[in-house]
Amino acid sequence: MADRDGLIWYDGEMVPWREAKTHVLTHTLHYGMGVFEGVRAYLTDRGPAIFRLGDHTRRLFRSAHILGMTIPYTPDELNAAQVAAVRDNKLTSAYLRPMCFFGAEGMGLRADNLKVHAIVAAWEWGAYLGDESLERGIRVKTSSYSRHHVNVTMCKAKANGNYMNSMMALQEAQGCGCDEALLLDTEGYVAEGSGENFFMVYDGVIYTPELTSALDGITRRTIITLADECGIEVREKRITRDEVYVADEAFFTGTAAEVTPIRELDGRSIGNGSRGSITEKLQTLYFDVVKGRHPKHDEWLTYI
Ligand code: PMP
Repeated sequence: MADRDGLIWYDGEMVPWREAKTHVLTHTLHYGMGVFEGVRAYLTDRGPAIFRLGDHTRRLFRSAHILGMTIPYTPDELNAAQVAAVRDNKLTSAYLRPMCFFGAEGMGLRADNLKVHAIVAAWEWGAYLGDESLERGIRVKTSSYSRHHVNVTMCKAKANGNYMNSMMALQEAQGCGCDEALLLDTEGYVAEGSGENFFMVYDGVIYTPELTSALDGITRRTIITLADECGIEVREKRITRDEVYVADEAFFTGTAAEVTPIRELDGRSIGNGSRGSITEKLQTLYFDVVKGRHPKHDEWLTYI
């Protein structure tokens, strides 16, 4: 990943990809205290466009606020950096990774002289779980790891350290031959995937967990809006794993995962074991929106 051509926006300048380095004593590397975003740009008829850029940047600043980190740039500057990262790398579609982290100015939990650094990288990245998974759906395992308790880790922050829990869950699920993990909260209710929000369909109604211990996903919000516009009811409620077992359909949403159907949980097939009709409808609408083919929601696209 580090050894490739391209440019990375680093503290206000575009630097060659291979030279975008930091010291081994970088504070965030040691303690995980950093914030980041995952953003996508898609090719539209009017060229590449970043999807919901402003919303992602707002969440980045909210995450930093939760951690007590002051980002030394304005949202407009980081928006411009993201546009530049796509444009200067001549990408037609991209995954973007803005991140803010503490530097190597000090060490230890009490370090008080730390600078906040920012990067934006962008590269071509296809379907997160593979093209086939978008059509066929994935196999998921309920994780033995709970999602963060609200008073242990701040779940509304997209914080670097939070992803240790995600990776443990994902490793376990993959070790059992599954594609993704479903994490429950500390009370045993469905929270989210390792990097996705969760939805299920039962009797024509869509259900999704409340955001207590899940990230406030931008794709989740998009899907709720699109479902609403189609007249499909969406209810936020606590969901148990056995409710998922008997659901008609289930799917994950995320910037990387887009809208990925879940065809199996813990060896039980969900619905008829393939992409359900409501999932397919929302998935199609989602791709229409992000690729600028939908008559509405042009306001979500930032053209390069
Ligand atoms: N939950 C977690 C833990 C995530 O990492 C992500 C990906 N950012 C999501 C949910 C989905 O969020 P979004 O739709 O904003 O990408």
